Amino acid sequence: MSAESFQRRLEELVGAPLILRLNCNTSQVLSVKTPAGSSLPIVSVHRAFLQADDKVLRAVAQFIRQPTPHCRRVLRQFIASIPHEEFRQPARQTLRLCSRGRYYDLDQILRDLINTFFSAELSVAITWGRNGKPLCRRRRHIQLGSYNHHQRVIRIHPMLDSPHVPEYFVRFVVYHELLHAKLDSQRDASGRRQLHTRTFRLLERRFPHYKEAVAFEREFLKSI
Ligand SMILES: [Zn+2]
Repeated sequence: MSAESFQRRLEELVGAPLILRLNCNTSQVLSVKTPAGSSLPIVSVHRAFLQADDKVLRAVAQFIRQPTPHCRRVLRQFIASIPHEEFRQPARQTLRLCSRGRYYDLDQILRDLINTFFSAELSVAITWGRNGKPLCRRRRHIQLGSYNHHQRVIRIHPMLDSPHVPEYFVRFVVYHELLHAKLDSQRDASGRRQLHTRTFRLLERRFPHYKEAVAFEREFLKSI
């Protein structure tokens, strides 16, 4: 099962949105915590759970809502059945974050924007980097910035680390991606993640240099 479907099924069973993290932790294969001031629980599960059947998923959901002896038993049995090698598999490549550019320090911009426009519980990392997708002029968020909701990492295209790019524009792209992080749990009726919703566009317009940023973007994309 993909991480997406796993999360969707889990949210369905729990009856509420949640943040899913996959780990390869041998000591704590399942943990749930809700950071102070946040309403979304962070559920960290071992990757092996992606192969679990619905009975186990129901036990995970029960564990998230309120652990019972029965769900603990089902979970223990499942964990005991995980082949030993699974525990040695790396969860993902180590993430290399590099936020300090030649001209712009993304971490500084990120912290600034979170302090000004978002609540402190929004925990997101940021790095210069490409997201590997082909250049697509019509979808700026894919090209100049991207947000990976599994890693909770924003990537900003290195071409923006330039003296020809005004700071408000770099801030705008980061702001846009932060909105994706903030509105991460917005889903349509079929459970699919919603990207540029009405709420998203409304919030995006609140950016202080919105008009200049959109105008700059148009010119910038023409020039590359
Ligand atoms: Zn976007």
